[in-house]
Amino acid sequence: MKKPVVAANWKMYKTPEESVNFVEKLKKKPLDWDEVNIILCAPYTSLFEMGNSLRDDGFVSLGAQNLFSEREGAFTGEISVEMLKACDVVWVIVGHSERRTLFGESDEDVCRKANAALQNGLSVIFCVGESLEQRENGKTADVLQHQVTALLSKLDEQLLSMVVIAYEPIWAIGTGLNATGDQIEESHRLIRGFIEKEFTSTSGEVSILYGGSVNLGNCRELSEVSEVNGFLIGGASLDADQFAEIVTTITEVKKE
Ligand code: PEP
Repeated sequence: MKKPVVAANWKMYKTPEESVNFVEKLKKKPLDWDEVNIILCAPYTSLFEMGNSLRDDGFVSLGAQNLFSEREGAFTGEISVEMLKACDVVWVIVGHSERRTLFGESDEDVCRKANAALQNGLSVIFCVGESLEQRENGKTADVLQHQVTALLSKLDEQLLSMVVIAYEPIWAIGTGLNATGDQIEESHRLIRGFIEKEFTSTSGEVSILYGGSVNLGNCRELSEVSEVNGFLIGGASLDADQFAEIVTTITEVKKE
């Protein structure tokens, strides 16, 4: 049984001081640390200090929310893999729907970013998911296939082992309206099937997370969906008490 993965996506929230306070608070929680992989994806400006505060502890992993695909150069405002690694970052979110829709990142852009990260030793949380219109028009499977295979076509088995997929229906992100267990199960099965087509023997090892309005009220029910290997959490990850409770819940459920 894979350990559940619980990733926090803090988006554009928290100063460095607030971020470190969160880490210090989380460290004191009586979590079943060996049974869960926790990833905190913080704003760039918090990463260096968080890296210092987490060093030698190894109890949670540090993640970024974005990167640029080039190694270095005249790319004002961008951040490279090496810059992230220098802050002890080991994960990066790629293809989040807010990057795709608000910042115009195409499938090509996100695959280039994922590749740059993986080839240079950063693990990737790769986000996929359909819009409400696509779901209502029966296009969910096509969208997921397109997004997942765009990534897989560039990978080999070794790079695949550094990827976690997050299924995040766009209509469920930040709306308070989570997908149902059946919808999640169906989409996760589809995603697993697309991976299986390209990587028959290792597809089962890839963790598929659910993201979209996960909170204290729904985390037990969502944890019970067998296809769910963890969560990517936005709003409910900002508060250390709430986040820790969600972590505790999925850890317990997945141990049962
Ligand atoms: C997210 O930003 O990836 C997300 C799932 O947000 P929320 O939990 O707030 O819906």
